[in-house]
Amino acid sequence: MKGSDYVDLRSDTVTRPTPEMRRAMAEAEVGDDVYGEDPTVNRLEQRAAEIFGKQAALFVPTGTMGNTIAVKLHTHHGEEVICEARSHVYNYELAMMAWFSGCVPRPVEAPDGVLRWEQIRGAIRPLGPHWAPTGLISLENTHNMAGGAVTPREVIEEICERAHELGLKVHLDGARIFNAATYLGCSVADLCAKADTVMFCLSKGLGAPVGSMLVGSAEDMGRARLYRKRLGGGMRQAGVLAAAGLIALEQMPARLGEDHANARWLASELARLPGIRLVHEVQTNIVIFDVAETGLTSAEFSRLLQKRGVRINGVGPSRMRLVTHYDADRAACERALAAIEEVAQAACAGRSS
Ligand SMILES: *Cc1c(COP(=O)(O)O)cnc(C)c1O
Repeated sequence: MKGSDYVDLRSDTVTRPTPEMRRAMAEAEVGDDVYGEDPTVNRLEQRAAEIFGKQAALFVPTGTMGNTIAVKLHTHHGEEVICEARSHVYNYELAMMAWFSGCVPRPVEAPDGVLRWEQIRGAIRPLGPHWAPTGLISLENTHNMAGGAVTPREVIEEICERAHELGLKVHLDGARIFNAATYLGCSVADLCAKADTVMFCLSKGLGAPVGSMLVGSAEDMGRARLYRKRLGGGMRQAGVLAAAGLIALEQMPARLGEDHANARWLASELARLPGIRLVHEVQTNIVIFDVAETGLTSAEFSRLLQKRGVRINGVGPSRMRLVTHYDADRAACERALAAIEEVAQAACAGRSS
């Protein structure tokens, strides 16, 4: 089976550029972006800043680099960064806080993926004879490992206001911030108004082949540009990528509701299947479900799905995560559901006989 014959719900990162993106890439006007001379990158950064209501933006190769730069911008060596216990910055970015910024995470558990001020407040530490001080608060919206959970605007605003009163900055890992805004029916500018910096991915549900953005104050983005260079992220004729990014940014947010509808539909169908248990309410494009009662591990379940042309990965011994996106329409989701049903039914029948 060729890669493109699979229904691939492992992540929304698997989306391939649309025909329009490929055309725009071929025709992109380019220059050397390290000199600030790539007109397409400059346009993308300007549009991102406008759309988020911030002073400036920076095009970065990956979301991990955007988050890494943000932590560096707001902290000094020997500080703590408060983040949710299952957050991406803590668990999936190769200890970048320690590696680049000399900071340690101070994880705080939020079972629903939504960190609130009351929980954060208890984790803030002043400099003391035994304590490293808090340098930054990092939020994740939507929360990936909490199944695409959305943090509402009031919750973000309260955290930012209280943090700012204490002189602390707030970074928002908004890899899927457009999914959050779609769910809430508000603009990303309103949702992120009080955050000091926001990182978001063009390369996930928005469908660009490569790239993320960091947005914030002009001063911070000026420093961020230097950190990006240090990290090896100073790209040259990056306009070929930014051209796809512009289409991702301008046109793709409007269709994310379709992905959410597909995820909700899949969740409601999965809930009827033997041996399958949903572990959270589905708000956006991520569905996490538990297959323990089929008697299969997530790795076994994944292998059996793969044989049926469907790719979904485990995120724990018995937990699977599927992510909907524009490259998997309702018909593809129906194929995925049929494969999951077959595997679950066969496993449960085997168990009871
Ligand atoms: C995908 C993701 C990132 C960044 O990932 P890259 O693969 O480095 O682009 C950051 N945070 C969250 C929550 C993500 O899901």
